[in-house]
Amino acid sequence: MTQRVHRICSICEAGCGLEVELATTPDADARVVSIRANDADVFSEGHVCAKGIALKQLDADPDRLRQPLIRDGGELRPASWEEAFAFIADRLQWVRATHGPQAVAAYIGNPTAHNIGLSMGLGAFVRNMGSTHVYSAGSVDQLPKQLASELMFGNDMAIPVPDIQHTDCLVVIGANPAVSNGSLWMVPKIRDKLRALHARGGRLVVIDPRRTETARLADEHLFIQPGTDVYLLLVLIKQLLALGREMPARYQIRGWSELKQTVQGIDLAQVSTRTGIPEAQLQALASTLNRATSPVLYGRVGTTVQKHGTLVSFLIEVVNLLTGSLDRQGGALFPEQAYAAAQRPSGGLQYARYQSRVSGYPEVLGQLPVAALAEEIETPGQGQVRALVCIAGNPVISNPDSDRLQRALQTLDLLVCVDIYVNETSGLADVILPGTSIFEDSHYDSFLGSMGWRNVARYSPPVFAPTQPREWDIGLTLGFINQHGEVPDDRQLRAYEDEVVAGAVSAYCQDQQNPLFGRDVQEILGAIEPEAGVERLLDLGVRAGKWGDHFGRREGLTLQTLIDTPNGVDLGEVRGGRLAEVVQTPDGCIDLAPSVIMQALQALADDAEAPGLQLVGRRSVNTNNSWLHNLAALNQVRQVCVLEIHPADAKRLEIRDGEQVEVRSAVAAVSVPAKVTEAVAPGVVCLPHGFSESTDILPGQSKGANYNRLVSASAIDGPSATVALNGVPVEVMRRASAQTTG
Ligand code: SF4
Repeated sequence: MTQRVHRICSICEAGCGLEVELATTPDADARVVSIRANDADVFSEGHVCAKGIALKQLDADPDRLRQPLIRDGGELRPASWEEAFAFIADRLQWVRATHGPQAVAAYIGNPTAHNIGLSMGLGAFVRNMGSTHVYSAGSVDQLPKQLASELMFGNDMAIPVPDIQHTDCLVVIGANPAVSNGSLWMVPKIRDKLRALHARGGRLVVIDPRRTETARLADEHLFIQPGTDVYLLLVLIKQLLALGREMPARYQIRGWSELKQTVQGIDLAQVSTRTGIPEAQLQALASTLNRATSPVLYGRVGTTVQKHGTLVSFLIEVVNLLTGSLDRQGGALFPEQAYAAAQRPSGGLQYARYQSRVSGYPEVLGQLPVAALAEEIETPGQGQVRALVCIAGNPVISNPDSDRLQRALQTLDLLVCVDIYVNETSGLADVILPGTSIFEDSHYDSFLGSMGWRNVARYSPPVFAPTQPREWDIGLTLGFINQHGEVPDDRQLRAYEDEVVAGAVSAYCQDQQNPLFGRDVQEILGAIEPEAGVERLLDLGVRAGKWGDHFGRREGLTLQTLIDTPNGVDLGEVRGGRLAEVVQTPDGCIDLAPSVIMQALQALADDAEAPGLQLVGRRSVNTNNSWLHNLAALNQVRQVCVLEIHPADAKRLEIRDGEQVEVRSAVAAVSVPAKVTEAVAPGVVCLPHGFSESTDILPGQSKGANYNRLVSASAIDGPSATVALNGVPVEVMRRASAQTTG
């Protein structure tokens, strides 16, 4: 017997709707037979990529952990959940008693953002950890974007996305949505949408040091030298002003005259030299933006993980403001989602409220940067990290200066990893708690739902009954252990869940902007429909949201509505005119001259040009950061871990196509095959991230040079301390020469 169920793919931000075919027999459990796109999904409209199809393999993968592992006599051995949690409780208690709560740290990996059980369950653990040592993959990813929004709008989640259905000019900087299907922008089937832009006479411009898959679809591609986008944006602002643009009066802003003053010192010829873009093309781009009815700039990882990430993210929105495109149809819009989070009580910026202990890096949105993690483990003294709980992350591969971080992790008194695999990081752990199978847990995009190309609400219940604790329960158990020093029994765990849910309800009832403001906490608690699980928080957030039923006050969405609508509820096009809701600065004005930004602009005076070759990263549709490399359906597609180098540089260095080369940075060297191609700008070399050279970890996975071994943890974006993964100065030499010289 077969059965078809609908499921949202939680691998990446596109959030594709899948149709999963299940086979069921009377005497056996159901199993996945096939996966294909769900054409009826209101958001993804039939899109799927190889990774979504490969979820079948992921679910069945014999390498996927199904039982906790404990280190015993130097080796990891299978253990029961009770034994694993007891081990953690004992060791964590000892660390806290010996070194204090500040000795405990958490690292939150990227999949947490796509997983409501993980993010909310482990969120409860992190919030109650009693330590400021909270790190995440955000500081090797999007944190500068969020910081720019926090500084500009007073709201780190106010991240506008291009109105791809209506714009007549999309300028993509340092992003490759044709491969990512959007990032901080959920836009499955983007190739169709870009073709539609072209068909209606619109223009796509891509600015990137590499001719990416998106650039190949563009009307115009401008190569730019890594780390120089800030100068491009400053000169665009100056040129737009020279063309007669002024900040539209409809925006409530402050600080514009100070920012404008700074722009006056920018010299077109110098910017042209620095960026590598001819003056005429810079002027033409400004004219294109000026002429377009609804131009929009979009920047992503190439603009955030670089030495001016916060400034660049900030200035992109300044251009969108100056062209009048921010919050206007066809421009950069703020999508809305059905799930409402309770707003934090206003208490000023979530920035620099404390610093890291060793290098004094600022806190950003309640986190310290991963640039500080190794030194915070290595450096003795009060507050030294002695225990780390790593949640769905593989920092040995995804964080800078990997060799040093790997050594540091090995010195911890306790390393706990929540992961579905033994990987380069979890392989060092004292305990690994296996994450739930993707089909054994539910899905709702609570974090990224506010960045969709269209407003929708979609929920997937588990396809199969869980065969182990759900991630929500793992997080709650760790939270209980951390707070009470012992492993909870079932009754205690459910009481702890009640406490967490009651705390959440209370936050909504105290949020003056939420429809539940002033309501009785017990009344709301009693009306939440699911009796247990993370779905209680989901029902709460959906019913308290813009389209929710506000708990009996009107007709509207509940979690049950979403369960009854497996293809998703379409809530309509993303619309403009939302700034008054989105901007949360104390005076309601968009701040165009926050002191952090003005200081970063002044510091540009000392921004030296990088010498020699510069390394940038890239992404392939068949890889997903540091994981999935072991799935045959993905890793046999083609060899992707090669160093792209321009023919002029290859000729100068006497490197032939396919030859093994050594790439050396200030901190490490890796060996990799070269691919001579005009797809990269002269002076730029390009390597994908997420690969590992290790042969004893997941032997079936495709191997490749670990990009992050080459990245120095001290090369950072000043305001956010996010690591500059792009624009790494390197030397490249033939392997034979390297062996002779090195
Ligand atoms: S693009 Fe691929 S990995 Fe991303 S959500 Fe869609 S199917 Fe999943």
